[in-house]
Amino acid sequence: MKIHEYQGKELFRNAGVPVPDGYPAFSVDEALDAFQKLDADRVVVKAQIHAGGRGKGGGVKIANGIEEVEQHANEILGMNLVTHQTGPEGQKVQRLLIETASDIERELYAGIVLDRSCGKFVFMVSTEGGVEIEKVAAETPEKIVKEWITPNGDLKTHQARTLALALELTGTQVKNAVKTFLSLWKVFKLYDCSLMEINPLVVTKSDEVIALDSKINFDDNALFRHKDIQEMRDLAEEEPLEVEADSYNLNYIKLDGDVGCMVNGAGLAMGTMDIIKLHGGEPANFLDVGGIANAETVAHGFKIILSDPNVKSILINIFGGIVRCDRVAQGVIDALSQIEVIIPIVIRLEGTNAKAASELLQDSEHDFIVAGSLAHAAQLVVQAAKQEN
Ligand code: GDP
Ligand code: MN
Repeated sequence: MKIHEYQGKELFRNAGVPVPDGYPAFSVDEALDAFQKLDADRVVVKAQIHAGGRGKGGGVKIANGIEEVEQHANEILGMNLVTHQTGPEGQKVQRLLIETASDIERELYAGIVLDRSCGKFVFMVSTEGGVEIEKVAAETPEKIVKEWITPNGDLKTHQARTLALALELTGTQVKNAVKTFLSLWKVFKLYDCSLMEINPLVVTKSDEVIALDSKINFDDNALFRHKDIQEMRDLAEEEPLEVEADSYNLNYIKLDGDVGCMVNGAGLAMGTMDIIKLHGGEPANFLDVGGIANAETVAHGFKIILSDPNVKSILINIFGGIVRCDRVAQGVIDALSQIEVIIPIVIRLEGTNAKAASELLQDSEHDFIVAGSLAHAAQLVVQAAKQEN
């Protein structure tokens, strides 16, 4: 799960990470109120969406005085903000952050992520803040300095100092950076974060080291421990189909291809996507219908898959281990009496009662393409999608 910048900064503030004073605003009036409360000469009007690159896209504007706050708030609220992270369709801005403008001396970068290659967290900093860190990583990786943290350990003070010195900070700046880094790690650990990015981390003219931006992702599997974080969820920022799937307890992730997939089990779902690609197709989604593939879950699955207009054919790939294939086949047949599917459906069922399942499908009134092997199924479904295009 992700949260907005202003919510992340609230967590930072509570943990002692210096951030500018600011208030969220859901309307132009609230933006003006925020400006009055801040009592500052210069403020920043910032679009709040779950994507970076807002500055370049025109979603971050400095305002000198209340007229400019009104003007920028009017422009940014409701705009369709397109950044390199939103994709070409963009994201509608429904919230703003109004905060006191900072006097920036240097723009740096700080981030914490899980380093899967060694099973540790990695705290990264770079002098190249404010720009796309992916570019720095690709072109000048030596400009990113890293310190690793064991999952049940902590960022040590000496590590924080090493990072601060790598940023070429001096005097009180070092002391302030060490405090900021230790507090950032505290937030990361306390809330079971999976990613945290502060770009830019800013050194002010008065030597403070403050978080001028905040990007936080949480480990969904740990969210049950954090009711306060769950309440920050903004469904308007999430893929609507994924939100709907979530309400049916289906594990769905939308992708860009045209072959819909309905599979039981996450591993098999991944394998199914791989084999579709191997046969020259592009999966339209990941969908794990879970252990109980009955008529209801299958019908919900169809509904979600078909809501994506790109889908040209569907592959149902079920392995009957605990779940019996004939039950699933009956589920598919029943679901099709509730939902009209006009694109080709390829089915591959293997495991317990696979033969009975195959007979059920062949005897039904629907035109399934029943495949013998997984490779055959992938070939057929990719072919079917190509014919529909
Ligand atoms: P992003 O583009 O989505 O990553 O949004 P950021 O919050 O990082 O803002 C983009 C850029 O706006 C920053 O890199 C800064 O250069 C600039 N910016 C943001 N806040 C301030 C501020 O308080 N003062 C000044 N001078 N520039 C700011
Ligand atoms: Mn940023």
